[in-house]
Amino acid sequence: MTARLYDAHVHLADPKLRPYLKEIGECYEAINLCGAVVNGTNPQDWPAVLECSASDRRLIPAIGLHPWQVPYAPENWQELFLEAFEAGAQVVGEIGLDRWIDGHNLAAQIPVFEFQLQFAATNNLPVSIHALKATGPLMDILRAAALPVRGFHLHAYNGPVELIKELTRLGAYFSFNAGQIKKHASLECLRAIPHERLLIETDAPDFLPPPPYREYQLPNPDHNHPANLKQGYGAIAELIDVQAATLADVVEENFRAFFLNAD
Ligand SMILES: [Zn+2]
Repeated sequence: MTARLYDAHVHLADPKLRPYLKEIGECYEAINLCGAVVNGTNPQDWPAVLECSASDRRLIPAIGLHPWQVPYAPENWQELFLEAFEAGAQVVGEIGLDRWIDGHNLAAQIPVFEFQLQFAATNNLPVSIHALKATGPLMDILRAAALPVRGFHLHAYNGPVELIKELTRLGAYFSFNAGQIKKHASLECLRAIPHERLLIETDAPDFLPPPPYREYQLPNPDHNHPANLKQGYGAIAELIDVQAATLADVVEENFRAFFLNAD
């Protein structure tokens, strides 16, 4: 039987993928995709996130203001954010902190992150968090803030291996993609994650994996095809030394427990 696959973090509403959604849907059938969390990044892509899930129940809508988008957000973004949840959003994401991007302004990012995290905590919703060169400030917030009882999701985890134990105690789930695994530090982290907290993602159209993990291609060769999820599963199973079928079962259980169960 073909394994049932789940993508914990993808951007199907990104303009780089939207023209190809029909073809991507066919590839999803071929790889037996059973669930994917479609992350928004700013009020401009939020309607498309909700549209994706309206046309395909496997696609779970995540609404969030990404740290890179904070400088461009309209003044009423909080209102639009709340409206998107009234319209059916099920996950808060992608939100986070970032000191990697040029011109970053952490002081502006923090209240935006905290507002969205608090909304997730109050409503016990899953939340998908991005952190780049911002581990210190992220930990300060996670240690002090109210968090969703169901836990939280750190996407493309790139923080230090030493924090994995504490983050796990705080409720973290961690996802990895095939584009990360060429880095030694990611490999070390991947092996340190408790299996019951492991998720797999693509972050497509970003995080183009190395050539052996690019079975599926988009017209622009620099963009990652979401169906390369399958190669991510294969690569990660090998790296943590478990059977592919076992990994698929573990990830399915984690994905359903975190993203789909209300309590
Ligand atoms: Zn993302």
